[in-house]
Amino acid sequence: HEWPAKKVRDTFLDFFKQKGHTFIPSSSVVPHDDPSLLFVNSGMCQYKSVFEGTLDPKSSIFSQLRRSTGSQKCIRAGGKHNDLDDVGKDSYHHTFFEMLGNWSFGDYFKKEAIEYAWELLTQIYGLDPDRLYVTYFEGDARYALDSDDEAKNLWRAMGVLDDHIIKGNMKDNFWEMGETGPCGPSIELHYDKIGGRNAAHLVNQDDPNIIEIWNVVFMQFNREADKTLTLLPRQNIDTGLGFERLVSILQNKSSNYDTDIFFPLFQRIQEVTGTRPYMGMFGSEDDVDGVDTAYRVVADHIRTCVIAITDGAIPNNVGQGYVIRRILRRGLRYAKKYLQAQLGSFFSSIVPTVIMQMEDIFPEVREKEQMVKDILDEEEKSFAVNLVRGEAMFNKFAEQCKDSKELPGSCVWRLYDTYGFPMDLTKLMAEEKGLRINDEEVARAQEMAREASKGDDKKITFSLPTLDVHQIATLEKLHDLPKTDDTAK
Ligand code: ATP
Ligand code: MG
Ligand code: MG
Ligand code: MG
Repeated sequence: HEWPAKKVRDTFLDFFKQKGHTFIPSSSVVPHDDPSLLFVNSGMCQYKSVFEGTLDPKSSIFSQLRRSTGSQKCIRAGGKHNDLDDVGKDSYHHTFFEMLGNWSFGDYFKKEAIEYAWELLTQIYGLDPDRLYVTYFEGDARYALDSDDEAKNLWRAMGVLDDHIIKGNMKDNFWEMGETGPCGPSIELHYDKIGGRNAAHLVNQDDPNIIEIWNVVFMQFNREADKTLTLLPRQNIDTGLGFERLVSILQNKSSNYDTDIFFPLFQRIQEVTGTRPYMGMFGSEDDVDGVDTAYRVVADHIRTCVIAITDGAIPNNVGQGYVIRRILRRGLRYAKKYLQAQLGSFFSSIVPTVIMQMEDIFPEVREKEQMVKDILDEEEKSFAVNLVRGEAMFNKFAEQCKDSKELPGSCVWRLYDTYGFPMDLTKLMAEEKGLRINDEEVARAQEMAREASKGDDKKITFSLPTLDVHQIATLEKLHDLPKTDDTAK
């Protein structure tokens, strides 16, 4: 490749270092001191104290941070940002991804931020300006917000043609940290992977060939408790560029998965499972046997688990731990069903490849290798038996409702409670069989689960899916469940 992933990342960081930015390593993806957040989901999280004004602007650390750059580990698999359902099905959303960024805290503002982004993309990476589309905030009368004409004019000054400048609404082009606090308009850069046409009308339409790559936020206001906006005393720049997406563009690939970020993972998965090689991204309709989707899901989920566990998340029944447990189990089920993986230490056998991919920018993954493998093995071993039994139970349920085409919420609940099947896993399995799920019933079941996990440790322990063989036999008798060995293949 002309642009191996590592070179893409280094080029970004070097560019901003040359512009006077300090390299700041990624923070932990588990936000150890921010209970409002499940996982760090963008590059700005670790700078909250800086732009909220709680860090002393006269301190020496502040002067280091005034211009900074880095690559932040991000997870979007729960809470406000949840891309889990897209993973494997589309070509550009992952549960874990790297967000490259540059920040200015009371230093440069719109003009330089736009100039830097444009120079880097078109001159350093050499992207064709004709394939780039830019957006700016159109304003919103309901919030007494004006159109960001300054940004529009800056784009024009860069030579961007009007038919490549697109206005965007609150949802796409205005950033707010919360109900109150710092906020401001943003601009985005989108890239057309096809080219030779005007694709302006396809921007922000979920088209896999026109993808958003970079988001630049102009933190200029503070929203007060009475909803009025005041100008911030220090204006800040916060940007986020999706690393995997940029690499797919520079390597001329239609999908993030066809790059050297994912390819070594697919090779390793193939080596371990002995299944057929990954064949590429043809869209879900073409992936008749589900194998390619499974490759993508498994590779994505392993990356997420390795990063999260390295940073201190442990698979369990609450918060981050439950997100990781769900992702792990989802991955294991894909691996077993579609790739014929032998469970026990499957995930951990892929870990060395993940580490090779990431240790350069996130050296902590190497330091924590053994711990991560041990935790993965323990979790995988404890779920392996339940996966087989639960799948058999599911098949029995599915058979019972093949006429009604609806899987009752009580079945979803029993799979969760008895075999530790996360609800989203059961939903996925139901989808595969064309069964609907009564969301209301599931919500009720979920509510029960939430109640059960409120403070009462005994109940949590009961729903822990690490049941031993003896307990499972008792439960099978109690609930008249199929004997796994009879039904499972
Ligand atoms: P999209 O509209 O494509 O979902 P977004 O607007 O939610 O992206 P931002 O919050 O603006 O994303 O994050 C900044 C950048 O991070 C995006 O421009 C994109 O390049 C990248 N990014 C966001 N979500 C993901 C993801 N799930 N996987 C990979 N890259 C992502
Ligand atoms: Mg998104
Ligand atoms: Mg977007
Ligand atoms: Mg965005």
